[in-house]
Amino acid sequence: MAELRFSALKEVFSRTPLEVSLPEDHISQYFGINVFDRTKMERYVAHEAFKAVKKAVEEGTPISRPIADQVAAGMRAWAMERGATHFTHWFHPLTDATAEKHDSFIERGSNGVVIERFSGNVLVQQEPDASSFPSGGIRNTFEARGYTAWDVSSPAFIVGTTLCIPTVFVSYTGEALDYKTPLLRSLAQLDKVAVEVCRLFDKDVNKVNATLGVEQEYFLIDEALYYARPDIVLADRTLMGHASSKDQQLSDHYFGSIPDRVMSFMIDVEFEAYKLGIPLKTRHNEVAPNQFECAPIFEETNLAVDHNQLLMDLMRRVARKHKFRILFHEKPFADVNGSGKHNNWSMSTDTGVNLLSPGKNPKGNMQFLAFLVNVVKAVNDNQELLRASVINENNSYRLGGHEAPPAIISVFLGSYLENMLEEVATKVKDKKMTPQEKTEIKLGLGRIPEILLDNTDRNRTSPFAFTGNRFEFRAVGSSANCSSPMIVLNSAVARQLNLFLNDVSALVAGGRKKDEAILQVLKKYIIDSERIRFNGDGYSAEWHKEALKRGLSAETSVPKSLRAYVSENAKKTLVETGTLTERELDSRLEVELEKFTKKLQIESRVLGDLAINHIVPTGVRYMTTLIDNVKGLRDIFDENDYMRLAGARKELIVSISDHISMIKKLVADMIEERKKANIIEDPMKKALVYESKVKPYLEDIRYHIDKLELTVDNEMWPLPKYRELLFTR
Ligand code: ADP
Ligand code: MG
Repeated sequence: MAELRFSALKEVFSRTPLEVSLPEDHISQYFGINVFDRTKMERYVAHEAFKAVKKAVEEGTPISRPIADQVAAGMRAWAMERGATHFTHWFHPLTDATAEKHDSFIERGSNGVVIERFSGNVLVQQEPDASSFPSGGIRNTFEARGYTAWDVSSPAFIVGTTLCIPTVFVSYTGEALDYKTPLLRSLAQLDKVAVEVCRLFDKDVNKVNATLGVEQEYFLIDEALYYARPDIVLADRTLMGHASSKDQQLSDHYFGSIPDRVMSFMIDVEFEAYKLGIPLKTRHNEVAPNQFECAPIFEETNLAVDHNQLLMDLMRRVARKHKFRILFHEKPFADVNGSGKHNNWSMSTDTGVNLLSPGKNPKGNMQFLAFLVNVVKAVNDNQELLRASVINENNSYRLGGHEAPPAIISVFLGSYLENMLEEVATKVKDKKMTPQEKTEIKLGLGRIPEILLDNTDRNRTSPFAFTGNRFEFRAVGSSANCSSPMIVLNSAVARQLNLFLNDVSALVAGGRKKDEAILQVLKKYIIDSERIRFNGDGYSAEWHKEALKRGLSAETSVPKSLRAYVSENAKKTLVETGTLTERELDSRLEVELEKFTKKLQIESRVLGDLAINHIVPTGVRYMTTLIDNVKGLRDIFDENDYMRLAGARKELIVSISDHISMIKKLVADMIEERKKANIIEDPMKKALVYESKVKPYLEDIRYHIDKLELTVDNEMWPLPKYRELLFTR
């Protein structure tokens, strides 16, 4: 069995970096050539239709059938010029992957010959069979049919020979079966209310976009080693493997020079990404060996999410070409850092102002303060919901570990802003303020320097950190669809901004001046959300204690965390704002629970199989050679020498035998627990039982396997070891 491991290693040693041939052109010359963006639409579509689409994007107006026909014709003409033969509606079901079903452009023309056609009907709507996508019960009660509908705000693009049209995916009854539908709803709500808040300060604002920049972490391992590790192939992570003697202790990989083979892969990814209009900007080695990161320039959130989903897909394909496998799993290896997907988020206006960037004058700073404080308050009131939006089976191995943000949600602002909030909280008076008091506060606000950007401390342990001109939600998992956290964050902030408007109006109605009313409301929010603000070490045991004292939740159980989706608070944030219906919300919980249980079930099965079929036989074989060795000693030595020499070997035999027995027993017990869990109908109960009864075996069994890995002859060990997976490339 060990042959597979050694031949895989030999294969890796023979690899050379793939030559990537790039065009002579500068990036800006081929950037977006495979995207049907506005410029191309203007060229390929009649002016009237172009204007209608522009209006639809900006104002959400519907598009008529004749207009859709014109756009479709232009799209097809462009796509065929670029070699496309097929098209697909491209959507994000609740699976963390994207879905596509390709149809060619061909149809029978009137006289029976084959022609290419692409009508507005087909562009606007399709009816894929929805029955095999998770729906959390929405589908079962009605029809299997689902509808995909064109998302005009995200441009169509070509991958290979297929024109891809970003779409939402809804059930026969119009309920969301995807991430995009609620994401678009949450963005529309945030836009609407944020514009109103902006108008307290600046009447010229007509649109607010949430912006998102996604830092994507990932591991690369060689294809040959990947195939020699059935756990990675089937469960996306290693379920066993003793820590390598050296891994990330010396921090010598982080920001180090990028290995040639990996560089070649990255260049190839970037080339493909640029053609698709994905503005990749940054690439570097990450903390763990064989771990890397890339980040684009931020974009409007819906587009940024589409681009991230597309990018992951593209990276998977390019990795194969380079004989790598890419691991987006949040914790593919125990003992070294896991991978996240930091969501850098802010809001920006159509007047070009970043609402989380300090302004150039007191008024601008007041607006900045208002948005900052409202976001902090929204996080405070929705801490559990935010965690629910990012926690899942994969990410549970990361959240609460040493490197990742803790499972406790808190906000880091840095000492400068922290002091400023304190100042507002102490200086603003609840009674009518004197002109002098007001001036003093405004002067204070005027001092928020533009250099704040360089002044913000870095705190790597915070799950939700202010980084100068944006917040960075770091608890998001590397394999996740960012829509999930963005839906909650946008809705939470939208709900909060509505409260803010109401609170300010109430004070103004009571006779307060607008500025004073704003300050007084902000003061109240600053005090009310004090507990969520934390500048210290988020990994420390003291914080854990302190957080509990503050009434923050430190829940690490996945199903229990997911319960936040059906809390009263979730109804206020997600249902009352119109992001999800109650049924959609329930269905999301069900889908998440099911995913959790199924992933654990798969991991448990894979581990059981490998333990019994790979590890136990290997242990037995090595034990047999030891036994033969002991027998040989008895043959050639006299009793005294034999007793002296055989002692240690016998101990080793006993120890191996004990580990083997334990593995067999634990696997048998685990299977029994699985059987009991599998007959539970209720998804919450089932998930809880899987977590409390089945999941612990993964660790327990692994412990004995990893001990065996340390003792068994290296020549016999069947699976590539951590030192090989992490250091060979
Ligand atoms: P770091 O590792 O220091 O956090 P990176 O350069 O890796 O920084 O990533 C920062 C990300 O934040 C980039 O994607 C960047 O475009 C994004 N970003 C910057 N400003 C904003 C903003 N106003 N809104 C959203 N994202 C932003
Ligand atoms: Mg960052």
